[in-house]
Amino acid sequence: MAPTGTASTALPAEAQALEKYFVLDKARLNEIVGGFRREFEDGLKNFGRDTAMIPSYCLNVPNGTEVGTFLALDLGGTNLRVCEVKLTGNHDFSVKQQKYKVSEALKHGDAKDLFDYIAESVDAFMTEVGTENGEDEAVHLGFTFSFPVEQTALDKGKLLTWTKGFACKNAIGHDVVKLLQDSLDAKHIKVKCSALVNDTVGTLLSRSYQSGPALIGAIFGTGTNGAYIDKTETIEKLGKEAIAESVKGGPDAGEYMVINTEWGAIDNGRHVLPVSPFDNKLDRESINPRKQAFEKMVSGMYLGEIVRNMLLYLIDFSVLFDGHSSEAMNTHYGLDTALVSEIEAAKSDDQVVNVLTKELGITEEFIKPADVQIVKWACRMVTMRAASLSACALAAVVLHTGHAQSKGGDETVDIGMDGSVAEFLPFFEERMRAALRLILGDEGEKRISMGLAKDGSGVGAALCALQAKKAEDANV
Ligand code: BGC
Ligand code: MG
Repeated sequence: MAPTGTASTALPAEAQALEKYFVLDKARLNEIVGGFRREFEDGLKNFGRDTAMIPSYCLNVPNGTEVGTFLALDLGGTNLRVCEVKLTGNHDFSVKQQKYKVSEALKHGDAKDLFDYIAESVDAFMTEVGTENGEDEAVHLGFTFSFPVEQTALDKGKLLTWTKGFACKNAIGHDVVKLLQDSLDAKHIKVKCSALVNDTVGTLLSRSYQSGPALIGAIFGTGTNGAYIDKTETIEKLGKEAIAESVKGGPDAGEYMVINTEWGAIDNGRHVLPVSPFDNKLDRESINPRKQAFEKMVSGMYLGEIVRNMLLYLIDFSVLFDGHSSEAMNTHYGLDTALVSEIEAAKSDDQVVNVLTKELGITEEFIKPADVQIVKWACRMVTMRAASLSACALAAVVLHTGHAQSKGGDETVDIGMDGSVAEFLPFFEERMRAALRLILGDEGEKRISMGLAKDGSGVGAALCALQAKKAEDANV
C-alpha cells in the first residue's frame, strides 16, 4: 500500500480536509529528512539538545561468536523484565525470563521506590529461576533502561528526562546505575550492574550478533528511537581528548561508537513535522507537553489516541456515527493502538463493526456503512503517516552515515527493529519501504534489509555486560 493515499470522494468534506496533515509526498518527505539530519548534526556538536545523540560507550557491534551468561534487566516498555541470557556463540542464545508489572503508582512515585522494586524483582528472579553463577562471585548485569540518559561511561549516566508515561521524582539528573546499585546493595543482592544500555543500542547489538553487522537498531514500540554506529570522531561535542580517552584500549580503539540518537524528541520545536490539531491536542493533554514531538506521531502509546481525537472531531461535526460517541471514545487514551491494528487487519467491514461495538461501545444502529469507511480511512491516515515518518528517521541516518549510495559493490545496509508497532501493526514495513523509495530512490531502498531483532533488550544488555567484563578483565 502506497504511503501517499489519495482523497476518496466518498469521504465527508470535513475528513477530506484533514488529509493534508497525513499524506506526505516526495518533496515533503525530503524536507522532513533534511530537518532530521540537521538535528542529528547539531546534537553531535552540542550537549543539551533534545535530539541528544548520546555516546553509548559501546565501541563495537558483536560478530556472533560471543559467549557467556549474564543477567539482564529491561525497563521502559510495558513491563519490567528480568532475564538470564546465555550467549552460546554461533549467533545463538537462550533466555530464561520473568515479567514483573510496574504499577502506575511506581511510575509516578519516588525513584527510590521504583529502584527498590526493580532490585526486589531481580532477587525474586534469582530465587525462583536461579542463575548459573557460582556462590561467591557477583553476577554481572546489563541494564536496559529505555529512556534518554546522558552516558559518561558504559556503566554511568544521568537521566535527562522521563518519557512514555513515567514521571518518578528524584530521578532526573541522577545516575541511574547508582540508583539501581544502591538498591541492590542495600538488600545484599550479589549483583553488579556493569552496563547501562538503551533498548535501541541493545537491538543493534542483538541484530548484529544474530545476523551480521547492522547499521541501525530501531525501536517502534511504546516509544520510538534509533541507535547507529558512527565514527567516534564525529561526536565533536566530546572533544578530541575525551574521545581518545574514552576509547582507549578498546578492541577497535578510536574507531567506532554506537550513538543513541533519541530521535523521539526530534523537532520538538515543530519546524518540519506535519503537525495536525489532533497532535497538538494530544501533546497539550500529555504528561510531557512540548516533548517527544516525533515519538507522539509514530509510537504505539499514541497512535490510538490520535485516531480517537480524529474520530471525535468528526463525531462533533455529526458526520460520523450520526454524532454519537461512547464512554471509551470519550476517555483519554480510550482507544488502544492494538484496536487500530485490528481495524487495519480486518478482512471485512463486519469485523470493523465488531471492534466499534464490542471494544469501543458504539451503538450498532448508529454505524452506517459509510462510517466504517471513515474509521478505516482514519486508521490508515494515522498509521501511514507513522510509517512514512519512521522511514524519514531511518533515511536520515542512512544519508548521514554516507550509506545511501552504493560504494560499488552490492553491499546491503541492515536495520534491526523491535517493538509492538514494528511487530504487530499491519503493513508497517511495506509502507516504510514505499516512503524509503521516494526518499532514497528504488536502488537505495532495495539495498536496505530490515528485520525484527529478537529480544534486543535482553541479548543486547548481555552483550554490553560482556564488553564491560572484558574491559574489566583487561584492566586487572
Ligand atoms: C526513549 C528512548 C527509547 C524509546 C524506545 C523513548 O521514549 O526516550 O530512550 O529508546 O522510547 O523505547
Ligand atoms: Mg522493550
